[in-house]
Amino acid sequence: MTDSLDNQVRELRSMLDMSTNAVLFTGAGISTESGIPDFRSPGGIWTKYQPIPFDEFLASEEARLEYWRRSFARHDNLVAAKPNRGHRAVAHLIREGTATAVITQNIDGLHQVSGIPEGKVIELHGNATYAECLDCLESFELGGIRDAFERDETLPVCDICGGIVKLATVSFGQAMPENWMAQAEHHTLACDLFVVLGSSLVVFPAASFPVVAKRNGARLVIVNREPTDIDDMADLVIHGEIGPTLGSAVGVN
Ligand code: NAD
Ligand code: ZN
Repeated sequence: MTDSLDNQVRELRSMLDMSTNAVLFTGAGISTESGIPDFRSPGGIWTKYQPIPFDEFLASEEARLEYWRRSFARHDNLVAAKPNRGHRAVAHLIREGTATAVITQNIDGLHQVSGIPEGKVIELHGNATYAECLDCLESFELGGIRDAFERDETLPVCDICGGIVKLATVSFGQAMPENWMAQAEHHTLACDLFVVLGSSLVVFPAASFPVVAKRNGARLVIVNREPTDIDDMADLVIHGEIGPTLGSAVGVN
């Protein structure tokens, strides 16, 4: 670690020590060290595919077929991934009570796997480890859906109401989950320190939370390999890797 990075890590540690009510906000960047590509880094998912918007998914069977082909192509990597040092540091901050919750844009479920109780992980964009009926919201495991799809590209249909079944994630153009949005807003307005870990901060409305926290008087920290559009607004910006940076700041390996 360079001298200046060392100083920044010390500053982050003291900001965490002083905080009585921090919120952690994570993006795809916290999971790249677990082998899950993000969207916008070189080699990220978007260099390969454009996302399928929700209205196309609903309107076209061909879009649904393509959606499930892509989902299953990524699924093995997703379920094989393990939490990394960054996730462990986040879990430590929640366990010791420094942070009240983690608001995440991630859909990989790794915060829960790292030991954070369900109620403290606010999943703004849902979860890709299971599927849900769009009409009655019944949940489905992916195993059976995948077997049928890989056999003859059978598209999943809800066996309760006949509705369309999709991963329990929020696609572009799909409504945000109201309960999670309300909880994220509550924590954002209550916190005295808001720490962004690995988000490009370009996907809205999620990216508005750090701005709301800062305007409401919280201190703002951004940890990212690269600059973001709101670095100027932050009290501390660390351009480094999340695992080593946060791990050193909180003393977790
Ligand atoms: P993004 O891909 O737009 O941005 C990731 C950011 O993290 C980039 O700015 C990159 O510079 C930074 N980064 C990557 N690895 C890093 C590391 N090890 N240390 C420090 N910085 C690092 O991701 P986003 O802002 O979360 O938005 C993308 C959307 O994609 C989200 O809505 C999310 O739902 C979805 N997504 C989720 C996953 C996942 O669940 N793991 C993966 C890809 C995309
Ligand atoms: Zn249903």
